[in-house]
Amino acid sequence: MKIFLATGNTKKIKEIEKILQDFDVEILSIKDGIEIPEVVEDGDTFEANSAKKALEIARYLNIPSIADDSGLCVDALGGAPGVYSARYSGESATDETNNEKLIKDLQGVENRKAKFVSVITFARPTGETYSFRGEIDGEIVDNPKGKDGFGYDPYFYVEEYKSTLAEIPEIKNRISHRAKALEKFKENFQDIVKKW
Ligand code: IMP
Repeated sequence: MKIFLATGNTKKIKEIEKILQDFDVEILSIKDGIEIPEVVEDGDTFEANSAKKALEIARYLNIPSIADDSGLCVDALGGAPGVYSARYSGESATDETNNEKLIKDLQGVENRKAKFVSVITFARPTGETYSFRGEIDGEIVDNPKGKDGFGYDPYFYVEEYKSTLAEIPEIKNRISHRAKALEKFKENFQDIVKKW
């Protein structure tokens, strides 16, 4: 069975390929030279965006596809930046400008609770979708720490490890929102395939 991984992020492609290596599936991605149209992420939830992406690509290529959507949700900001995490500081946002805005918006705010969310969706061209959510809790700190990771990692502190996610890349790969969503997907994979 062929499955297309609908992400342009090579780190994510590697991560998902590794998780699915025990199964009898052929993973295809942009690495194989397959071109896909851009999908507009205009949903209100991670579930909506990830399902939209997976389904549009599954229908376009006529093979089952996997997509993900992820972001940071901060309690004191009512769950923002949420689905807007990548472009929190505007259309030409970078990790740096997003983090600057985050720290500015949290100036003087005592409650620093936050979580990262990832939703992985498997979709068939016939329209069925299966979504899996993973989350990790943390706190936003004013001073960045660590050189690894990406996005908001240097500002996302995890109490259990007394570190930001940018300081603990190996541990992050095990405990992250994405790792948890992928783990749930893996647990359910055989069942999904059986219903084929
Ligand atoms: P997307 O799911 O690739 O569209 O990611 C949305 C945005 O959420 C990214 O651009 C990052 O700003 C943020 N984000 C998602 N996952 C992580 C993570 O593991 N660490 C840091 N930032 C993340």
